[in-house]
Amino acid sequence: MTDVDGPGKPFEHLWTPYRMAYIQGEGKPTGAHDCPFCVIPTLGDEEGLIVARGDVVFAVLNLYPYNAGHLMLVPYRHVPDYTDLSAAEVAELGAFTQTAMRVVRSVSGAHGFNIGMNQGSVAGAGIADHLHQHAVPRWGGDTNFMPVIGLTRVLPQVLGETRKLLAEAWATDSTSLGA
Ligand SMILES: [Zn+2]
Repeated sequence: MTDVDGPGKPFEHLWTPYRMAYIQGEGKPTGAHDCPFCVIPTLGDEEGLIVARGDVVFAVLNLYPYNAGHLMLVPYRHVPDYTDLSAAEVAELGAFTQTAMRVVRSVSGAHGFNIGMNQGSVAGAGIADHLHQHAVPRWGGDTNFMPVIGLTRVLPQVLGETRKLLAEAWATDSTSLGA
């Protein structure tokens, strides 16, 4: 599986909410960088495609999904490596991964998941400086479930509706730490 959260996809210029907000002067990152994972939490949930916010970790839909419901679990802190995380961040990242699986299963009936993180550019991380765990739902025969070509017009709506469904299900997940 390749990492697909990086820029350069055909429709990148059509819909990059964090960059639009940045251009408009909203949610400017406080640091010297413009890391999207640092900017996204400063946006509203709908604009940032945020599904849930925890104490130290948030859940966000991937703008360039490998599959429908492709979530990322991301610490707020801008650190690159899993060994950089505190115990609290490891715990909430794990809890959020579990909740993401429960929620995506309940909403979409996913048959399986690819869970994991690419550590470093050499390993395929699209945004290598800010750790993020992927949770990609899988269905039997889903190889071509969401082709990239042809979705330039519908994808923002699809993502917005997907975010709403998942956020509502997340909020009702009784064991969720971040609801
Ligand atoms: Zn960052």
